[in-house]
Amino acid sequence: MTERIYYTEPSLGEFDATVTGVETVDGRQAVRLDRTAFYPTSGGQPHDLGTLGNARVIDVVDEENGDVLHFVEGVVTTGDKVPGRVDWTRRFDHMQQHTGQHVLSAAFDTLLKARTESFHLGADYATIDLARELTPAEIARAEDDANRAVWEDRPVHIRFVDAAEAAALPLRKAPAREGTLRLIDVDGYDLSACGGTHVARTGAIGIIAVTGWERFKGGMRVGFVCGGRALSTHRRLRDVVAESARLLSTMQDELPSGIERLQADAKDAKRQIKDLQSRLAGHEADRLAASAQDGVVVASLDGWDQTALKNIASAIAARPGYAAGLLGGPAPYAVVVARSADRGTDAGAVLKQLAVRFGGKGGGRPELAQGGGLSGDAAEIADYLRSLL
Ligand SMILES: [Zn+2]
Repeated sequence: MTERIYYTEPSLGEFDATVTGVETVDGRQAVRLDRTAFYPTSGGQPHDLGTLGNARVIDVVDEENGDVLHFVEGVVTTGDKVPGRVDWTRRFDHMQQHTGQHVLSAAFDTLLKARTESFHLGADYATIDLARELTPAEIARAEDDANRAVWEDRPVHIRFVDAAEAAALPLRKAPAREGTLRLIDVDGYDLSACGGTHVARTGAIGIIAVTGWERFKGGMRVGFVCGGRALSTHRRLRDVVAESARLLSTMQDELPSGIERLQADAKDAKRQIKDLQSRLAGHEADRLAASAQDGVVVASLDGWDQTALKNIASAIAARPGYAAGLLGGPAPYAVVVARSADRGTDAGAVLKQLAVRFGGKGGGRPELAQGGGLSGDAAEIADYLRSLL
């Protein structure tokens, strides 16, 4: 069984150990040590990274028999005495988030009787799943109280007790394992059984900031960031807000109303474009009809949507003696075929023939048919369309 230095000395990032075994597990080189400060993935907290001698530690896994497996890249030999070095930036970040979780979970539990069902420490933020739903005001109340406990700089003790002693203690959650229990005691605030790594005083958490929440499995999933992550999150949001305010030429506090104004403007513009297009469709129909040969109009029109093409084609076919085939680009092309009541062309059949040769699909009535997805050379499609009309 590997001696876990972090159980009693979680602030130790450098240590010496003897290599007790090297093996290949699932194609990766795994190292066993007599003692380690490397934390293996467990209890919602990800593993540490770092080095063993000249080898890089890329993964750390908890084994059922109590050993810790260090997956490494590089040469490590059984019997060697090696210096171990934990990537302290990563480890300290995990300690801040994990201790912050104890404090925040205790606040939800004590103030609001909202039990923590599970905890996950992700790369950007951590989450706790609560057994019941809370209002935004309740979440803010727990957040305030948790930060009060942070700023009171309470000591975080590590204690070991047996099952009988544990049974008599007011643990926040019933322990899942038997035998000797490791307790994390946030002085006067929280008492839980936990094998993770924590800071020595709550002040080192810095701050606990809730990032968001959503309904989850009948309860609530609450996201949060602590310490360094809270600062980097603040910086990222600050830059996003500043840039958005600059783009909208508005004050930061007025961003929501600025966006609403922009949305209303866009809606107006869309309505105006639609109106102008329908008026322009009449002019386009006049222009195209004037250039018809034997009453046949074939044209390739860019920038018009399907509805506008249909309006133009229908406007041409509203006068006697015309057959119109309009292509809308860019590729793949939309197509609308319309003909006057006094012409015999079957617009639907024309659409089908176009699709056979140029792909796409479409259909309609003998007087009016439309489709899309035609690919090929626009001039070639136009020539063929003219021959069909
Ligand atoms: Zn913990």
